[in-house]
Amino acid sequence: MDMPVPSTTVLAQKTRIVKALRKVLPRDAVIDDPAETRAYECDALSAYRCAPLAVVLPRTTAEVAAALKLCHEIGVPVVPRGAGTSLAGGSMPSADAVVLGLARMNRVLEVDFDNRFIRVEAGRTNLSVTGAIEAQGWFYAPDPSSQLACAIAGNIGMNSGGAHCLKYGVTTNNLMGVTLVTMQGEVVEIGGPYCDAGGLDLLGVICGSEGQLGVVTEATLRILRQPEGARPVLIGYASNEVAGACVADIIRAGILPVAIEFMDRPCIEATEAFCHAGYPDCEALLIVECEGSAAEIAEQLGLIRQIAARHNPVEFREAQSADEAKRIWLGRKSAFGAMGQKGDYMCLDGTIPVSSLPQVLRRIGEISQEFGLEVGNVFHAGDGNMHPLIIYNANEPGQQELCERMGAEILKLCVEAGGCLTGEHGVGLEKRDLMEVQFAPEDLEAQMRVKDVFDPAWLLNAAKVFPLHVSAARRG
Ligand SMILES: Cc1cc2nc3c(=O)[nH]c(=O)nc-3n(C[C@H](O)[C@H](O)[C@H](O)COP(=O)(O)OP(=O)(O)OC[C@H]3O[C@@H](n4cnc5c(N)ncnc54)[C@H](O)[C@@H]3O)c2cc1C
Repeated sequence: MDMPVPSTTVLAQKTRIVKALRKVLPRDAVIDDPAETRAYECDALSAYRCAPLAVVLPRTTAEVAAALKLCHEIGVPVVPRGAGTSLAGGSMPSADAVVLGLARMNRVLEVDFDNRFIRVEAGRTNLSVTGAIEAQGWFYAPDPSSQLACAIAGNIGMNSGGAHCLKYGVTTNNLMGVTLVTMQGEVVEIGGPYCDAGGLDLLGVICGSEGQLGVVTEATLRILRQPEGARPVLIGYASNEVAGACVADIIRAGILPVAIEFMDRPCIEATEAFCHAGYPDCEALLIVECEGSAAEIAEQLGLIRQIAARHNPVEFREAQSADEAKRIWLGRKSAFGAMGQKGDYMCLDGTIPVSSLPQVLRRIGEISQEFGLEVGNVFHAGDGNMHPLIIYNANEPGQQELCERMGAEILKLCVEAGGCLTGEHGVGLEKRDLMEVQFAPEDLEAQMRVKDVFDPAWLLNAAKVFPLHVSAARRG
């Protein structure tokens, strides 16, 4: 993966830049010791690393604005960072960039149950948003599997989703407003806690913009009452295709469970060895969760049982207790970590129409054989958001490249099936060079013009999202 050649002028002026940053920020907000900046050299796409020029960790929106204004004036690139759990290289820096990390901005600013919103600083972790309101019976719906670590800032950057987004939607459906600081240091309020805030609706442009347009410092989020109850069911099948067909039938029937998750044999086996969730011995399993009142759950599960039976499941197990429900989810939530036992892996993220699940899963199996690399599938099947995990050995020369070529084949397959390159992990560095598979030059040009408006000097996270040769003229 190529990165633009770092600006030698910027690199040569490191001492001067750090000194200037220390003039506008508290001393402990600026880190330039290489032993400490190393912690910021990669995100969860850890095959790619590059230590930044410096790291700034502001505590207030005013400090963010001061840092950005200065970097803009002296032409220093900036990479916004939440918790650094991006799987797409979105928060990986370049050698001439300042990383602007939001980790210290993690306070709850306002909770309003009457009007159903919470306002938080953007460095707050996803899970701790719910943590702040669960005692009163409320929750924040988007639940990435990384929710213990990832920050709302990064969730907004990537428009993140999670297992329960089938019913509740992803970040963009639960985001009501942001405080955004532009690269020039201007503080802008977009959206807000009440319906249809004044001005142009720019929230959809910001959510999922991968740190290209500005730095989000605060977010107003929709909160929901916890459901009366919820119950997951495990359904085991003899093949991926049959499990895929069952998912397609559930969606076609108009049933909307809160989650439909899919795991294939490699993931089931790895998970069992890792956390003993009690999963059945089968080729593919679905976790389908229904929620609501006891009557609503019983009605939905009844319909799901009928549909599942048409596909001859090898197992149909409804959780009979809270403990059993927890164990069912434990396996799914541990699956990514468990797959690490098999070797290095690359986690892909593409979407497809749900109705094409059986064909796409079959073709992924064929691609795996063609490339000679094992692939495991664990993903949000209800909304067609696939996460094939390709297992490889990073220490074996050539395997990283082979894995990337295989990943590109699978993502092209998703686009051919009518889906797209990313469901929730973003484009970042990982899929930057595949953007031309999905978008015509005119489409990319239109997207880059949006960046021109917010960041005319192309200093914010500029090596990401757009193929380097396409954005070269803008980056100067
Ligand atoms: C084990 C594991 C499981 C995961 N499961 C899921 C999942 O289920 N669903 C899912 O969607 N993702 C998942 N992810 C991916 C990742 O956790 C998400 O993309 C998450 O939203 C990133 O949040 P972060 O705070 O770590 O962001 P970072 O990695 O720090 O940044 C992500 C992007 O947002 C930009 N950004 C960060 N802060 C700001 C800001 N303040 N203003 C503007 N832009 C900003 C960055 O520049 C970057 O482009 C998973 C990752 C791991 C490692």
